Amino acid sequence: MSEYFSNIKAGAVTIATGMSITLKHFFNAIHRKGDAGIDDADYFRQVDGLCTLQYPREAVPVPVNARYRLYNDIEDCIGCGQCERACPVTCIAIETIKVVPEDLAVCGKTSGGQQKKFWVPVFDIDVAKCMTCGICVSVCPTECLVHSPVSDFSEFDRQNMIYHFGNLSRLEAEAKKRKVAEQQAQAAKEKQAAAAKAAENSGQ
Ligand code: SF4
Ligand code: SF4
Repeated sequence: MSEYFSNIKAGAVTIATGMSITLKHFFNAIHRKGDAGIDDADYFRQVDGLCTLQYPREAVPVPVNARYRLYNDIEDCIGCGQCERACPVTCIAIETIKVVPEDLAVCGKTSGGQQKKFWVPVFDIDVAKCMTCGICVSVCPTECLVHSPVSDFSEFDRQNMIYHFGNLSRLEAEAKKRKVAEQQAQAAKEKQAAAAKAAENSGQ
């Protein structure tokens, strides 16, 4: 009989101990964690305080060296294609058009003063394939391709995961291509005429 009551007593003590631990954490969680920012090594070691955020109204601060969604400042892109070639999963697609001499001033220079020699009508990044390895960023000579702090960019449509940074519309690109083709045809004609004249002169 005494064993029966001692078991009940042990059960009650166990429940009370467990509940006291639970209540301690419950009341401690009412408060925010300390002032340590996310960059502080001790931030996740703090045992007391709220550990969940009211997402998306609140979000964990992004570390300054975070590698999230890519962004290309196309005004500084020289269309060299190094990022496209370096990407191990081919998620960057670029198309370029040579800038004809009279358009060089319009095409302009990068913020570092480098003359841009290519229009970049297509600069697409398929971020659904991107593994944020950062190789493309590290090879970019003008540092226009960067990881942005945007970490939440979920979409319902897979196509919306392809980001377009090109600096020409389709019609503008067609006009530029026509101009290049015309100049090439003119140059070929002049070369042909010069060769014919040289042949004529040598025959005299
Ligand atoms: S971060 Fe890596 S995977 Fe993503 S586009 Fe750049 S090279 Fe490709
Ligand atoms: S490496 Fe940089 S400059 Fe070259 S095409 Fe890519 S983003 Fe543009």
